[in-house]
Amino acid sequence: MTERCFRSAEQTGFDEIKQNLAVIRETSAEAMDKAGRKDELRIMAVTKTVPVEKINYAESLGIDLLGENRVQEFLGKADGYSPDSEVHFIGSLQSNKVKYIIGRVSMIHSVDSIKLAQEINKRSAEHGITTDILLEINIGGEDSKSGISPDMLKDTAKRIEEFENIRLRGLMTIPPPGGEEKYFAKMQELYQRMRQDNANIDVLSMGMSADYADAVKYGSTLIRIGSGLFGYRNYNK
Ligand SMILES: *Cc1c(COP(=O)(O)O)cnc(C)c1O
Repeated sequence: MTERCFRSAEQTGFDEIKQNLAVIRETSAEAMDKAGRKDELRIMAVTKTVPVEKINYAESLGIDLLGENRVQEFLGKADGYSPDSEVHFIGSLQSNKVKYIIGRVSMIHSVDSIKLAQEINKRSAEHGITTDILLEINIGGEDSKSGISPDMLKDTAKRIEEFENIRLRGLMTIPPPGGEEKYFAKMQELYQRMRQDNANIDVLSMGMSADYADAVKYGSTLIRIGSGLFGYRNYNK
């Protein structure tokens, strides 16, 4: 676990965002080296509750991938983002909201049911596009979390691969707090098995502000960083 104390978002100005990003880049590069990895790691800036000016500032520092949790918030902010940034949807997604984001995000990380995949497929077909998706795995088997159980992965992937306007690209997870390493190791195993069956699989989305170095150790190709970059969120405000 990376032990760092994050400051609140209000206290986190541009200079601090710059320093935070330098730490994240350095720490993740070290973790890549330690793991003997020469492949690529993407750093996503998670934008929930963050004002557009700060997101634009992160973009000016070379962040080219944004992660969105909430459909309404995204729709309100997206016009202010740099057109060069890629946007992925990472939050829990209700089927009836899918129509608002198709064509506006290039990947959806949080697909946790065939029904949701079906809706993404249908709306993508209407737009004449293919949408990349990841399957969210409930790796800790927690009742409180969404995601597919590892036992169901193979069958679910098989069915989703049949949809014409979806391209399955890999897996995403949010592990239970504490003991992450064991869960990251399990995710790596599932991911590698999946890659043997499907040549499109190239994204393992895992690791957040508190645990990204461990995630990198177990093969994460995309880390999702919010508070470690922009400061601690205060939802009561
Ligand atoms: C908020 C969020 C993150 C980032 O979490 P931090 O701990 O603030 O880095 C990553 N992934 C998802 C799905 C999130 O909702």
